[in-house]
Amino acid sequence: MKITRISAHQVDLPLYEGSYKWSGGKSVDVFDSTIVKVETDDGIAGHGEVCPLGPFYLPAYAAGARAGIAELGPHLLGENPIELDKLNRRMDAALKEHAYVKSAIDMACWDILGQVAGLPVCELLGGRYGDDFVLYRAISQEAPEAMAGRVAEYRAEGYRRFQLKVGGDPDVDIERIRAVADKLKPGDKLIADANTGWLKHEAMRVVRAVRDVDVYIEQPCLSYEECLSIRRHTDHPFVLDEDIDGMTPLLQGHADLAMDVVNIKISKFGGLTKARQARDLCVSLGIAMTIEDSWGGDIVTAAIAHLAHSTPTEFLFTATDFNSYVTQPIAEGAPQRENGRLAASKKPGLGIEPLQEVLGDPVVTVE
Ligand code: MG
Repeated sequence: MKITRISAHQVDLPLYEGSYKWSGGKSVDVFDSTIVKVETDDGIAGHGEVCPLGPFYLPAYAAGARAGIAELGPHLLGENPIELDKLNRRMDAALKEHAYVKSAIDMACWDILGQVAGLPVCELLGGRYGDDFVLYRAISQEAPEAMAGRVAEYRAEGYRRFQLKVGGDPDVDIERIRAVADKLKPGDKLIADANTGWLKHEAMRVVRAVRDVDVYIEQPCLSYEECLSIRRHTDHPFVLDEDIDGMTPLLQGHADLAMDVVNIKISKFGGLTKARQARDLCVSLGIAMTIEDSWGGDIVTAAIAHLAHSTPTEFLFTATDFNSYVTQPIAEGAPQRENGRLAASKKPGLGIEPLQEVLGDPVVTVE
């Protein structure tokens, strides 16, 4: 089997809530998503998606994904899409780093492998654990009382894990954490995600001020070393995200006991192949995970579902259903949240069928 064509489509994904805001005043109103189609000489096609959280979150931006696919694509024509480790080595040899550029191509090739094998990707990634898995809901940064007001609304949708966007003024963030914590019910979990937004002295003040609150602290500061310093001064459960983007930082974090939970975003690692490698390493090392991506629509949500559903339940801290945040469907067959939980498709591959009228004409074609 050979890759004969790679094309990329651009789709805007508006938000039901109008905008999504996080640390440092960063916000996005409409997400710019790239959907990749990989076609083969057997007539089987697979799809993937990559959607950066704006150009200022990770070293990734939407137009860069498409430029990168145009650059990388010619090196992949004639390659076998179902030999995924070989394909990833080829991508790494042809384009240094730029993990997010490779993510949607890798995802599309897993979709092809599943169709060839007649198996859902989740079974190929190790097996399906249970009937479904637990989701969290991100609470966009607003005034403390407005954020607290969201808890009941999201709990009515079934969510029991709430990820609060902090990383702003530390005094207001302390109020945000306390206001939301007051709304929690037994069984709920609260995560305060600063998204690198605090300096060390600010993070130190926040973790001390909320010491009596049952809250996870996620990525308080920009660098790994700063986060490690905060970690060593607090007894809150600790999550690392932005700084953990490959095996080397993951192993360093494990050696330093730097985190209790790691956030594995598919495109941050470069696709399902490498995210699975990180997932399996975390299981071997005893580290729980949030499994998600930077952002996305139906296809990213399907890929998250396959990776999350094939993760041993006790290691899956939580996962995300981005397709319920955005108003624009892009594929049929994508998993839909039910009572705050999600399940991977039982159809072969990713189990999705893109809506051609939404994708429109490709903006990049390599053949
Ligand atoms: Mg995070």
